[in-house]
Amino acid sequence: MIEFVALFLVFYVWHAMGITIGYHRLLSHRSFFCSKAVEYFWVLPGYLSFEGSPIWWSTMHRAHHRHVDTPLDPHSPRYGVMHALTGWLEAKEYLPHIDPKLQAKDLLKDPIYRFLECNGNLMAGHAMMFVINIAFRVALFAMFGWVVALASLLAGASVLGIPLLLNVVCHMTDLGYKNYDTTDDSVNVWWVALLAQGEGWHNNHHACPGSARSGMRPSEIDTSWWMISAMRKLGLVYNVNEAKHYNLMRRSAVVRVMRRKKIKQRLQNELLQVSG
Ligand SMILES: [Zn+2]
Ligand SMILES: [Zn+2]
Repeated sequence: MIEFVALFLVFYVWHAMGITIGYHRLLSHRSFFCSKAVEYFWVLPGYLSFEGSPIWWSTMHRAHHRHVDTPLDPHSPRYGVMHALTGWLEAKEYLPHIDPKLQAKDLLKDPIYRFLECNGNLMAGHAMMFVINIAFRVALFAMFGWVVALASLLAGASVLGIPLLLNVVCHMTDLGYKNYDTTDDSVNVWWVALLAQGEGWHNNHHACPGSARSGMRPSEIDTSWWMISAMRKLGLVYNVNEAKHYNLMRRSAVVRVMRRKKIKQRLQNELLQVSG
């Protein structure tokens, strides 16, 4: 039993960092640079956690940032919690405003990602992902036995649920706190940050999506940032974009002024309509 729990935890951290470091901070936001070998090292555990192809994941995530908490956001809880949780996954093809050929040109240059994307056929891409994920566990079973295979399967399946939960919980203002004023509903949620290896500091992330670091306060544990920092020290990654609290506070103040101006303008317009 202890062996199973230990294996589960190792696989869990490997897959969760695959999503956080590989799919999210590297592929979706290019928050640091590295060799192809290091890139594939982190993208592989992301793919093996049932999360879909790297191009699909990154394209949807970039759309989330571009249209955050508007009707064009693929998964904003403003337009239904169940839709934001799993409903948006039912789409059989890309929505008209989401197109990898326009929004993920950089990733389409990679022949492996292009192959896993199945030429934009979402159903085929998801089916291939499922088959490869199961085949990986069958191979583990054949080589190391059922304890390793089952620990890997359960860890991968558990990690699948974390970004789905994050999309909802970290965009509901009552469930967390904000460090910075942003134009969206994003909040920091400590327990999501622990489960998602630092991704729960979501308000910090929306304040500076291009940063490889999401935990900004000393209490905001960001294990993926620790890993990226260690890789930087070892010379495995370079040009690491690290947000500074001071700069985010300045940006936050600008957003606050813009919001006040917007509210003032709206009140003036309403007053004009009433008096007119
Ligand atoms: Zn978000
Ligand atoms: Zn992001």
